[in-house]
Amino acid sequence: MPKYIQESDFTMVEEGFVARDLMEEIINDVSQTDDRDAFFVADLGDVVRKHLRFLKALPRVKPFYAMKCNSSRGVVQILAELGAGFDCASKAEIELVQGIGVKPENIIYANPCKQISQIKFAAKNGVQMMTFDNEVELSKVSRNHPNAKMVLRIATDDSKSSARLSVKFGAPLKSCRHLLEMAKNLNVDVIGVSFHVGSGCMDPKAYVQSISDARMVFEMATEFGYKMWLLDIGGGFPENVSLKQMAAVINPALDLYFPEGSAVEIIAEPGRYYVASAFSLAVNIIAKKEVRLDGSGSDGNEENYPNKNIMYYVNDGVYGSFNCIFFDHAHPKPILQKKPSPDQPLYSSSLWGPTCDALDQIAEHLQLPELQVGDWLLFDNMGAYTVAASSTFNGFQQTCIHYAMPRAAW
Ligand code: PLP
Repeated sequence: MPKYIQESDFTMVEEGFVARDLMEEIINDVSQTDDRDAFFVADLGDVVRKHLRFLKALPRVKPFYAMKCNSSRGVVQILAELGAGFDCASKAEIELVQGIGVKPENIIYANPCKQISQIKFAAKNGVQMMTFDNEVELSKVSRNHPNAKMVLRIATDDSKSSARLSVKFGAPLKSCRHLLEMAKNLNVDVIGVSFHVGSGCMDPKAYVQSISDARMVFEMATEFGYKMWLLDIGGGFPENVSLKQMAAVINPALDLYFPEGSAVEIIAEPGRYYVASAFSLAVNIIAKKEVRLDGSGSDGNEENYPNKNIMYYVNDGVYGSFNCIFFDHAHPKPILQKKPSPDQPLYSSSLWGPTCDALDQIAEHLQLPELQVGDWLLFDNMGAYTVAASSTFNGFQQTCIHYAMPRAAW
């Protein structure tokens, strides 16, 4: 019996379902009204498939899903149901997963720099695995979380990744011995090593280098009497490169440096790989402005201006789900919900979010047929670092999510 997710939490869909089907249904339902809010369709079957592929490609690695990537209810529930662990960055993320019943041993508090009150919260709630990369964190932990099982995060070469993290986190190898010695003196238990090769990592060799570095730190730790048993290979798995190809390089490195039988548990913290393709977004055109090439507004006589530029304003923007443009270097591409006829002329067009800020631009230099207020635009691959950092700036509410589950996946 499911513990974490019920049938009432999603729409059950039949075999052959694609997210677009449910989007069309919702659009059809609301098209008789003016109530055309932007919405997501999240295909939980896609998340299930990703999880199964992950387990198959990296059979020695237990995934601890990185909540920061998308902590929406359906995603967290389905992954808890599938037995995944969770990488939490804060008290609120720990509360969220514990709120649905996830056990503390399935949580790693993977933020190397934590507020003291949040360390105490983890201690009180039985969350023991936590990362660190500096001396001050060790002192904070020794005073506030006597049962912590610390994981030393090391820096990586993240130059081949779309979002680099080692500029902020990760101890250089040369400071690891000192950190381990300090941990020993403070009586802090250090159980393993973690790293993050940067988000959207295109080069599996970055994992290999870090796995080999981790081995060195395991050896150093023995000098201080530690027998480490956890290797955390972090996140970074891209959504658009085959995981199989990445795994073909990562698995041999794991077998070389941490062979089976070496009593080392291996975990990872994948985020975008799990959710990017599961989410599709539909936005509605709420306003439109034509600009003649000389920069002035339209005089209403379109025929005179075949080269006009058109600005479309839609009901989600960079302060909402499209924050990925700024925070995740994303370039979302719209798909027209209504198929245009091939003889329709194309105009240079730009897309803007609904807020009063001119930074709120989603795309420019698009070649689109002329669209109308009330038309829909669709965006695929909108699951990673979108809903997670979306705000209510200007009073625009976060975009709601419709969850779909194919019967076979259920
Ligand atoms: N783990 C940590 C500590 C992170 O900071 C991140 C992303 O920033 C992740 C995991 C997830 O990374 P990704 O979405 O690239 O898999």
